[in-house]
Amino acid sequence: MSVLVLGSINMDLVAVAPRFPRPGETLRGQRFFTAAGGKGANQAVAAARLGAPTRMVGRVGNDVFGPALRQALMEAGVEVSGVEVDPETSSGIAVIVVEESGQNAIVVIPGANGRVGGAELARLERWLPEARVLLLQLEIPLEVVVQAAERAARAGVSVILNPAPAMALPEEIYRWCTWLTPNEVEAESLVGFPLREDQAIEEAARVLVGKGCAHVVITLGERGCVYADRGGVRWVPAYSVPVVDTVAAGDAFNGALAVALWEGRSVEEALRWANAAGAISVTRYGAQPSMPNRDELMAFLAQHVETHRAPGS
Ligand code: ADP
Repeated sequence: MSVLVLGSINMDLVAVAPRFPRPGETLRGQRFFTAAGGKGANQAVAAARLGAPTRMVGRVGNDVFGPALRQALMEAGVEVSGVEVDPETSSGIAVIVVEESGQNAIVVIPGANGRVGGAELARLERWLPEARVLLLQLEIPLEVVVQAAERAARAGVSVILNPAPAMALPEEIYRWCTWLTPNEVEAESLVGFPLREDQAIEEAARVLVGKGCAHVVITLGERGCVYADRGGVRWVPAYSVPVVDTVAAGDAFNGALAVALWEGRSVEEALRWANAAGAISVTRYGAQPSMPNRDELMAFLAQHVETHRAPGS
């Protein structure tokens, strides 16, 4: 039995420069690097590092980045026979200019991710009988996400939908999702009211459960998360850690949640794992390099078992 991930695979091309170039200007920068990303790929890497057999379904482009992206997944232990090359388009690419001040400007080209469709659904369908959990996000066409969620749910596979980036969702998708894991901004766009106060956050979680998801988690960065099911709402505080880079905290959270559920762990424990994986990831730079492995997660949980007890629990 495996964790299946259907989603985006991206290459970030990062130029560090003293400032942004003006229109028509050629500017000399200091440094360039590439980094494998995409929410789908990041979450697959997070799950594989934590020890679950993880299979990625997706598409890369017909360029030098396609093989590099597959390789990065393989090196993290992700099974990539479900990742195919689209001969007619580029890989998903983010061109990023980072100013010395830390400000950035980004152009995202969906490329192959934008053409994920029937072929991927067919591959997914083939592997559903041997899957326990399907992880989905919103960086591929929405109608494909809806179809994938429905097919997985009908096959008895638990669906975790991380509804990122923020957008409105068709009402029908909620009933196919076992877990829905928006961050604060995404939750706001799903419920359509502002989440300025704690009460509003709790209400949003309840509203989303009411739409048909059995389990809803709204992640709140350094505040941890709010969990809701039909039995009620509760807060799960974050671990207190030294923060260096919050990129992909949500991806670490979702990958760990998937692995915990794949192992049949309780909701309580799954949330603890997810919070811990998110916390570890913010203590390190980068997206995929910041995902903890299993030994690191276990050591972190053992170390924080006493300090993390909520008051009165
Ligand atoms: P996203 O990256 O999708 O915006 P969040 O910022 O809500 O998601 O982070 C996801 C999870 O990662 C949080 O629920 C929490 O468990 C963990 N996390 C994020 N930021 C921190 C932080 N500063 N300290 C501890 N844990 C964090």
